[in-house]
Amino acid sequence: MLRSNTDQPDAHRAARGSRRVSRAARLSGTTNQKEQHMLRGSCACGRVRYEIRGNLLGPVTYCHCWRCRKHSGSSFGTTAGVAASDFVVVAGEELLSDWESSHGVRRYFASCCGSPIFKRDEADPTFLGFRLGTLDSDPHVSVEVHFMVGSKAPWVDIRDSLPQDAQGVPFGERD
Ligand SMILES: [Zn+2]
Ligand SMILES: [Zn+2]
Repeated sequence: MLRSNTDQPDAHRAARGSRRVSRAARLSGTTNQKEQHMLRGSCACGRVRYEIRGNLLGPVTYCHCWRCRKHSGSSFGTTAGVAASDFVVVAGEELLSDWESSHGVRRYFASCCGSPIFKRDEADPTFLGFRLGTLDSDPHVSVEVHFMVGSKAPWVDIRDSLPQDAQGVPFGERD
């Protein structure tokens, strides 16, 4: 049984209290934000399509935790927060499948082709952790932090100047 305090990645938790708006929202002012920042996305095969009818909630992170790495099949995950009420699946909802990555946290993916889309923590179902890789619209945000760098894959050499969060079990281990 996995500990319930794992998987709290995602620096989004820290940002939830303030509901910090994205850089794009700050730059654009407050007029008609919902329409201006409607984002569209789709799974790799295109059968699952979704809209985000609001802004991404920062910070945008590169998350190096083993769950993000394994669930993306890539070197790390790129994530941000989304208000659950802003996230609307417009096609293929029945194709969404999920797995419980730690107690009470379910990661949703497109069963048709495997694209990871979002995760939901039952402790706060109003907030989703969202994977940016399936977007088709430019969210006009920039990555702000490397998260869980303690779990970084050994082939990754971080050469940017973004701040790094040192948490994470060593590569190859699970918590
Ligand atoms: Zn698909
Ligand atoms: Zn992660």
